[in-house]
Amino acid sequence: MATSTESMLKVVEPATEQVLAEIPQAGVEEADAAIARAKEAFPAWKRIAPGERAAIMRAIASAISAKAEDLARLEARNVGKPIGDARAEVGLVVDVFNYYAGAPERLLGETIPVAGGVDMTFREPLGVVGLITPWNFPLPIASWKVAPALAAGNTVVLKPAELTPLTALELERIAREAGLPEGVLNVVVGPGRVVGERLVEHPDVAKVAFTGSTAVGRRVSQLASERIKRVTLELGGKSANIVFADADLEKAAASAPLAVFGNAGQDCCARSRILVQRSALDAFMGALEDAVEALRVGDPLDESTQMGPLISADQREKVGSYVGDGAPVAIRGSAPEGPGYWFPPTVLAPVSNDDRAAREEIFGPVACVIPFDTEEEAVAIANDTEYGLSGSIWTTNGARALRVARGLETGTISVNSNTSVRVTTPFGGFKQSGLGRELGPHALDYYTELKNVFMSTE
Ligand code: NAD
Repeated sequence: MATSTESMLKVVEPATEQVLAEIPQAGVEEADAAIARAKEAFPAWKRIAPGERAAIMRAIASAISAKAEDLARLEARNVGKPIGDARAEVGLVVDVFNYYAGAPERLLGETIPVAGGVDMTFREPLGVVGLITPWNFPLPIASWKVAPALAAGNTVVLKPAELTPLTALELERIAREAGLPEGVLNVVVGPGRVVGERLVEHPDVAKVAFTGSTAVGRRVSQLASERIKRVTLELGGKSANIVFADADLEKAAASAPLAVFGNAGQDCCARSRILVQRSALDAFMGALEDAVEALRVGDPLDESTQMGPLISADQREKVGSYVGDGAPVAIRGSAPEGPGYWFPPTVLAPVSNDDRAAREEIFGPVACVIPFDTEEEAVAIANDTEYGLSGSIWTTNGARALRVARGLETGTISVNSNTSVRVTTPFGGFKQSGLGRELGPHALDYYTELKNVFMSTE
């Protein structure tokens, strides 16, 4: 195990397989130093006037906005995501900081009727929070944690994924230049097993917010539970896209590909199980084939690209293991030859919900089409998974839409849409997709403790 800086980390561009940057890799010593800086900065950041904290958050939003194109290009190159998607993600990050800039002055408590005095509640910051993020949406997921944590008065140590640390380092620099006091936000780049675990184990870190795989989330949860450390987890998914025969099939089929193949399928909300009512199956498959063939897969920096490469050679090998492993390949799109970690958008059909491809999170551009007959069967198949993150329902019957939405064991549902994330609404998982919620006002509950104060009037 590394205990201090031992090596330089090579950050690779997935579309070219070339080294994009080389940066120092931190170990336990650097993690401890960052935690110490955050601890020192906490009392002043906690006490700063709410309006001043809000103004700094707004200044960070403006500074990100001013650097939006550079950040989007860096993220597009480092993750291999289409530049149009990267721009939209940076726009979301600006919105997230502006939204939580409203929080410092609105962290309200209650007064509670009691005998003999006045009872009131306060929302107190936790202290130093450790934030651990994945490589698929590096900047947005960092912002979903950093912005509410700072708004509530916490100080932060952020550990981005080793594959995609570059925009987190930029965020630290931008925030500092925008007026965030020294030590309030600290980015530490290093291995998850070393720096990530140190954040979970360190006694001066009050809470850990983790986004990543369910397997690592389980480990984080175990380490946290030994210390009764607060923890929130945003984990994997295997979401269902349920298409009823009464739906607008053209619209459902046109939007289904990017609901799985967006970000090259490396999306926790990917609707990777497409459940189609059998009477509409042929019509849907025809329209889906047209939509998959029309997908533009290629250079992330090309304005017309809709899907880029996978993040790494390992990821490509893992994704490939699900194709030709039982379920037939019904549709295969195209992808560049290489260099680059390319993988063609692929639809397996028909798939049984018991097949490995339907049970495990593939995290690549592979969709499973699973036929069903009745509404009850659709809900049962959709719920027959250890995950519960997201999902969609396509129907023109409003009562059915609500009935099914209430029946699904999943955190975020869209009707006649494939979107999952809005700045103002809660996002998070049921079952093994996680613990807690991000975004919206609810996220603030996970970055504050509720304090109750009783004052006698007698
Ligand atoms: P991962 O679990 O491998 O890594 C996530 C982060 O955890 C990285 O920063 C990594 O360095 C760190 N880490 C690794 N081992 C650790 C350990 N032992 N202790 C502490 N930290 C450790 O995940 P990934 O491959 O980067 O991301 C893909 C996964 O993330 C998928 O499963 C995806 O579904 C999930 N994800 C979930 C959401 C959500 O909001 N629910 C969003 C995006 C991604």
